[in-house]
Amino acid sequence: MKLFFKFTLLISFILTSSLSAEKVYKLKMATTWGPTAAPLIDSAKNMAKLAEEMSNGQLKIRVDASNKHKAPLGILDMVKGGQYDLGHSASYYWKGKDIAALPFTSMPFGMTAPEQYSWFYYGGGLELMQKVYSKHKVLSFPGGSTGVQMGGWFKNEIKSLDDLKGLKMRIPGFAGEVMAKLGVQVTNIAPGELFTALERNTIDALEWVGPSMDIKMGFQKIAPFYYTGWHEPASEMQFLVNKKAYKKLPKHLQKVLTTAMRVAAYDMYAQNYNMNAIAWDKMKTENPNIKVLTFSKEIMDAMKKANAELRADLSSKSAELKEVLDHQEAYMKKAREWTKMSDYLYLKDNLK
Ligand code: CA
Repeated sequence: MKLFFKFTLLISFILTSSLSAEKVYKLKMATTWGPTAAPLIDSAKNMAKLAEEMSNGQLKIRVDASNKHKAPLGILDMVKGGQYDLGHSASYYWKGKDIAALPFTSMPFGMTAPEQYSWFYYGGGLELMQKVYSKHKVLSFPGGSTGVQMGGWFKNEIKSLDDLKGLKMRIPGFAGEVMAKLGVQVTNIAPGELFTALERNTIDALEWVGPSMDIKMGFQKIAPFYYTGWHEPASEMQFLVNKKAYKKLPKHLQKVLTTAMRVAAYDMYAQNYNMNAIAWDKMKTENPNIKVLTFSKEIMDAMKKANAELRADLSSKSAELKEVLDHQEAYMKKAREWTKMSDYLYLKDNLK
């Protein structure tokens, strides 16, 4: 009898464990990006692949590019509404719905990628992001960093603040507002029309990302002044997860998912660094007339002043946004001391 009891217990254990091992969870992910927009879409695909492999096929994620769902800027709504379980996009796209979502991508004169990752994962940033997104019934996680984005391609050299007055430039978002305060005529043009607009002088300048993504656009052929970055020092993409879909997953698959997202995020930073190095080498060889320039102190100071005014103005309208901005600022102050004495002084010394 005792033996029989042990035997049935063993059988039931084998049955339940094999059943739970066999149950496959299928999730769908919508991304903002087109099917070939490397490295952005790669981060989403990499995450899905890692999750499937780490779960031994138990967690399958289908990644839909924007040509499939036709709503590149509808990701938050679709994940919130449950049409998709997961999303890959960028937090600053939702600033019109929730201004507190703005700082989780990157802020002008804000943290660098290593500083921002340490803020997210060890400095309380991730918890703050969940707090902001809880009202949307989704979870939000870092989704891959572009690192420092370049300040943009200009057809003419910008020597003084006067050169910015009336300059027609494509620069979206918060950075565009900073530029507008300096007298720039800020316009937004669809990505597919940017090259022609620049070529026909509809615009005099534009910012895109950095060599890795700029090279395919061809701006280097017609606007040779390539200014260094200030406005998106570490643009972080974003994974979104519908809370209900997340709760339906067994604990170990939740862990697989969050681990895959974390690995894929940091991996995009590494992938894009490599892509930038290769693209820049090719770009400068093929276009030796490109000049890499940095905005003068006069211009940078004016940008910083306009940036501070805009931040104060927005903060006065949203206590939650103020909380995030203040939290980032306080963290950056601490982390920057270390950045200065480590990376900065190391490079400064070695670049002499
Ligand atoms: Ca950009």
